Amino acid sequence: MSTRREAGPLGFWLGAGLAAAVFSLLTLGERRRPLRPSVEPKRRRLARNLAVAAVSAAVVQVCDRPLTRRAAALVERRRWGLLPQARLPRGMADALAFLLLDYTLWVWHVLLHRWMPLWRLHAVHHADLDLDASTGVRFHPLELLASVPWRVAQVVLIGAGPRALSRWQSALLLSVLFHHSNVRLPLALERFLALLLVTPRQHGIHHSVVEEERDSNWSSLLNVWDRLHGTLRLDLAQEAVTIGLPGLRDPRQVSLRHLAVLPLRPPRAWALSEPPSVV
Ligand SMILES: [Zn+2]
Repeated sequence: MSTRREAGPLGFWLGAGLAAAVFSLLTLGERRRPLRPSVEPKRRRLARNLAVAAVSAAVVQVCDRPLTRRAAALVERRRWGLLPQARLPRGMADALAFLLLDYTLWVWHVLLHRWMPLWRLHAVHHADLDLDASTGVRFHPLELLASVPWRVAQVVLIGAGPRALSRWQSALLLSVLFHHSNVRLPLALERFLALLLVTPRQHGIHHSVVEEERDSNWSSLLNVWDRLHGTLRLDLAQEAVTIGLPGLRDPRQVSLRHLAVLPLRPPRAWALSEPPSVV
């Protein structure tokens, strides 16, 4: 069965190795050609973000992957969901599943910002005072846990099989590392990539302290979803963007200890008492 082959230990270690190699390359690029000046010492942030990432990776391995992979295998076997009903050629069905998974992740990201209980979890990711590849793997474990039912619903409703799910998740991980990175790409290259993909300058605007700027660029892989919804912003220079959240400007407020309990504290305690406004 393709599920077993794609989710097996070799596939896992190959994927982990590729992600680690891309992360190292981006970290090297961030040192050579930084896009934004750093607020906090890099080593301290790296240790903190990777500690959060280690716990989150365990949550993904224990909860997310087994459930979503099992759901994808079941969907393929029973022909559940939207796409199997259309009886399309396999390649076309896989491509459409890839697109629909990516679009429904855009919807999830909007919900993370719009619904206060989810925003309290996602705020841990946005509270980073700098933005680099390590921010891309820094999500509160509760946010990843909350995303599991959504991911299972994505797979079941779309009818995404194991192959489409695996390809999309691999591409997504590489994209997330890339667009969070603090690498100053040549402007012409970034403009070319931004025709289709989320890029570091684009995602930098989404991490702005200014809510109006943060409410843009929600895409995680293909930026077509922001283009379609009119939420793509490319008009802000990185020099004009301050990364982080209002009310959490002191590095002592974003220590590992504070981040762990941030979602549990009343939002007024971290200066976000007002629910985010509706688009
Ligand atoms: Zn966000």
